[in-house]
Amino acid sequence: AKSAGRDTLRLYTPVLEERLAERIALGQALRRAVPEGQLRLHYQPLVDRAGACIGYEALVRWQHPERGLLAPGAFIALAEATGLIDEIGLWVLEQACSQLAAWRDVPAFAPLSVAVNVSAAQLRHPEVVEQIAAVLRRSGAPAARLTLELTESMLQQDVEDGVRKLRALRALGIGLALDDFGTGYSSLSYLKRLPLTTVKIDRSFIRHIDADGQDEAIARAIVGLATTLGLRVVAEGVETQAQFERVAALGCEAFQGYLFGRPQPLADVAA
Ligand code: C2E
Ligand code: CA
Ligand code: CA
Ligand code: CA
Repeated sequence: AKSAGRDTLRLYTPVLEERLAERIALGQALRRAVPEGQLRLHYQPLVDRAGACIGYEALVRWQHPERGLLAPGAFIALAEATGLIDEIGLWVLEQACSQLAAWRDVPAFAPLSVAVNVSAAQLRHPEVVEQIAAVLRRSGAPAARLTLELTESMLQQDVEDGVRKLRALRALGIGLALDDFGTGYSSLSYLKRLPLTTVKIDRSFIRHIDADGQDEAIARAIVGLATTLGLRVVAEGVETQAQFERVAALGCEAFQGYLFGRPQPLADVAA
């Protein structure tokens, strides 16, 4: 705005204008991504203490016609800002649920669960509970095999509304995981208020867990607290055997990270 003064005006460089134009173009392209079938789901395994696969986290990718395969960091924020996240989120959920439905009658795959990320903007949609219930019903996926991954930042706007919706989703049998645990500001109160089934220890505590006593102490506290509350703990971002052994020694039951597998299309996963 003009009233912000000279300093702000000086920021309006051609580079910024170019970036803004790029962002607008990306937003227009993103609008076509779902109808034109450009989104992909990659699946990253979750393993138990023995290293056996117990499920997957579904992570969205965008096969951009010119720029190639884009990671969510390149477009999820834009999807949230433009309102496209509702459509993208439903697409992700439909894919994940049809996968679960396909596994349902195959004994080797039936026990596997799939976790899907849900963004704050999606949870604010007034019909989100009905939408998710409808996807489950249409697909025939067992609700107990589906987990929604939430971050605590998503509840900051209207906690009561969020809690009410999460209770309704939990009542359907869907699992609820608090993602990136330990990185927010009010984690502990959320553990009490939300009808959670799982807590995911953020990657930042795992990264130096074999070298940094403080990170290990935090991870230990998270595992202890979550276990006491009857929640399952997933350690994310496990990249080395040493990290795996350290976090397993704390009592963690499920693990995810490059050590066990990178996110990849399901055809590759099944092989
Ligand atoms: P997240 O939910 O914390 O997902 C984990 C991210 O860490 C993924 O990045 C994954 O590829 C990466 N990762 C997994 N294991 C390791 C590891 O051992 N080391 C390292 N360095 N990284 C690891 P990705 O796929 O780029 O996704 C980034 C974020 O985008 C996700 O973070 C999630 O917040 C968001 N996201 C992904 N898919 C969706 C979606 O369908 N909907 C929404 N709303 N958000 C999504
Ligand atoms: Ca996640
Ligand atoms: Ca995470
Ligand atoms: Ca994250």
